[in-house]
Amino acid sequence: MIYFITVFILALVFSARWNWWRKKTDGMSVLMYHKIGNPPGDSKLKKLWVSTKKFDAQMNYLKMKGYEVITFKDLAAGLVKDGRKKVIITFDDGYRNNYTEAFPTLKKYGFRAVFYVVSDTIGKKNLWHDSAVEQPLEMMTEEELRNLTAAGMEIGGHTVSHKNLDRVETAEAEREISENKNELEKLTGEKIISFSYPYGGFNNKVKQIVEKAGYRYAVIIKQGKNPFPFAANFSLKRLLVRGEESLFDFYLNLSGGRNRL
Ligand SMILES: [Zn+2]
Repeated sequence: MIYFITVFILALVFSARWNWWRKKTDGMSVLMYHKIGNPPGDSKLKKLWVSTKKFDAQMNYLKMKGYEVITFKDLAAGLVKDGRKKVIITFDDGYRNNYTEAFPTLKKYGFRAVFYVVSDTIGKKNLWHDSAVEQPLEMMTEEELRNLTAAGMEIGGHTVSHKNLDRVETAEAEREISENKNELEKLTGEKIISFSYPYGGFNNKVKQIVEKAGYRYAVIIKQGKNPFPFAANFSLKRLLVRGEESLFDFYLNLSGGRNRL
């Protein structure tokens, strides 16, 4: 009897952490990455780091399972007719490790991705960051961002200085959004059409400002897939990829929209 109760409890615990029972949904998946490589020893944000090897395994999984990796530009051009097995790969903040670790892997698989860049920190460090949580990291340079663009990667907006737009005055939000967009367009020579809200912070007013600035899509930090066609283009959900997760978690995210309770 004790044996059966123990098995039953273990099965419950497993099912809470690994949501195999979730209904498979057909919506478009937007993967959310931050840092690729090995975290500094003192980092208190280790879960936001995905090792280069794991990232490679995840890209290999997409390739093997026949996922089609698209960008927001493909969406804007009307090239995407449904969300089935469609994935957009996104990186927040513009860390230099995206260029040194993720870019070669993306090229290896012939994938394109979207990189959200904080314009004030280009070629510098993540100045908005609390260095007690993790030592400051190098950010991509202008030249690296131009190289990404030349390779077909998409650059997206992430404000001038990584402000939580839900907590600033309207005028400041407008400046953070439009100056960032202008600067990135000047740098890449491309139209910047997608935006990521720093800290996932937004409200209806912020959404309107982003739309008015000329953006077509914006991504948030909320777990889930996006049913086609989109009800709203300025609050697209994403799938957070945590550093400690396995390919089974990756599969659960892509199929059911989340991997845990
Ligand atoms: Zn960010």
